[in-house]
Amino acid sequence: MKRIFLCAFVSSLFTLAAFAAAKQPNILFIFSDDHAYQAISAYNDPRKLLQTPNLDRIAKEGMLFTRAMVPNSICGPSRATVLTGKYNHLNGFYNNSNSKFDPSQPTFVKDIHAAGYQTAVIGKWHLISDPVGFDYWKILPGQGVYYNPAMIDNGKPVKLEGYTTDLITDLTLDWLKSRDKSKPFLMMCYHKAPHREWEPNLKNLGWDNDRKHVEPETLFDDYANRGLAVRDQDMSIEKTFTLRDAKLVTPGQLTPEQKGKWDAYYEPRNAKFRAANLTGKDLVRWRYQRYMHDYLGCIKSVDESVGRLLDYLKAEGLDKDTIVVYSADQGFYLGEHGWFDKRWIFEESLRTPLLVRWPGVTKPGSVNHEIVSNLDFAETFLDAAGLPVPKDMQGHSLRPLLAGQTPADWRKSFYYHYYEYPTPHHVRPHEGVVTDQFKLVHFYKPDVDYWELYDRKKDPNEMRDYSKDPAYAEIVAQLTQEMSRLKTELKFPAEIPRSAYGNKAFDNEPQAPDAAPKKKGGQKKKKAE
Ligand code: CA
Repeated sequence: MKRIFLCAFVSSLFTLAAFAAAKQPNILFIFSDDHAYQAISAYNDPRKLLQTPNLDRIAKEGMLFTRAMVPNSICGPSRATVLTGKYNHLNGFYNNSNSKFDPSQPTFVKDIHAAGYQTAVIGKWHLISDPVGFDYWKILPGQGVYYNPAMIDNGKPVKLEGYTTDLITDLTLDWLKSRDKSKPFLMMCYHKAPHREWEPNLKNLGWDNDRKHVEPETLFDDYANRGLAVRDQDMSIEKTFTLRDAKLVTPGQLTPEQKGKWDAYYEPRNAKFRAANLTGKDLVRWRYQRYMHDYLGCIKSVDESVGRLLDYLKAEGLDKDTIVVYSADQGFYLGEHGWFDKRWIFEESLRTPLLVRWPGVTKPGSVNHEIVSNLDFAETFLDAAGLPVPKDMQGHSLRPLLAGQTPADWRKSFYYHYYEYPTPHHVRPHEGVVTDQFKLVHFYKPDVDYWELYDRKKDPNEMRDYSKDPAYAEIVAQLTQEMSRLKTELKFPAEIPRSAYGNKAFDNEPQAPDAAPKKKGGQKKKKAE
């Protein structure tokens, strides 16, 4: 009898211990907009563009993922995927032109909130409909601006003065300080930076001391050995860069004092630029340097923000039971292929930075090379909170990877699909399948229908299509089959709605012919625009 009692006592102790271990952790999810992994020093980009000591702290105390991918490399669709754990063909948010997030659909935030978490989102939301499932939200309308932004505070318009990245950080800290400390929290700190037009904090102007930033190897890519789509885009530093991008005009929303600081930095340099009358490659080179000063200057503020938030967690003793995740809605081109912007299945925009610090789970300083995705975030957060994962979510919890154990059946391939066309940036719709080494891509609309194969091992900069090379015939066949398998598994619809492509102008473009010249590798000429 005594023995039975002792067993029951020990067993209840174990249950209590398990319960204590399963205490719901806090979640601080810091998310930025268009942050290239090349611009985080922990990623060790060969150009060594800048130091980001605070972002690197998350990597040092947690895990850095080298191949975190987005299913559609553009703002709104990526954000919808984060909330729902689903591809855009299921969450309905395909593009930034005419999509609107249906707030009635399930999200991980609603589940976490219902389970007793305090939830808040502060910063750039960009899903058109208002946030749902949050105790508190304060968001920028649309894209928002960098200086003196308007914001919407739980539905009420307000106007702030200051630099947006700093303000979002201040507001995040204010909320954390005033939260109900009896409950775990989910704080989503959603930065606007470093989105175009890359306007830095005025205190950071000149941060690089006019250093000459290293150019990417592919700055002057001639787009040979590939199809029409890469040549016929509108996102190049050479052709698409505006006066506003180049800071040759002053933004309108500055106060007189702010304008004074802006002009004091930019005007003398702009005068020198005008006098030099640059053309051709020299002009591209000048723009690249200006772009790097500005873009990286914005990152400096994001890094400072991360430092302030980590310091707060530490000072409050919250660092031991708070998961910190840093990511962006996608990557970005920092001059690679002559581009800025995103959209493509190519590495710089397919991938997004992902740094995770999970005390007690993740070994500090670890690096993971598996294919992971922002599809996995929702399931990871639900798993962390000890909640069941809805069956129709399409990612997987990252918890085993973060604990240093990759499940044997972890994904080895990834399906990608970009829709928005023709504006902005004229990147043709394409879908593809990605593995560790290869990418098979299908450009299919409106005036093209061709496939390309990229071999990252042989051609890390993705400058050559190998799809017509007989040596790759078997790979192409395997990947074609794999893409078809993935589309079935992911419940991809038989027909894509026309609205998925966004802009109405698309209706006037010619459609791809049924009998496409796939095998010959040819393609129809672009219609004059
Ligand atoms: Ca974005």
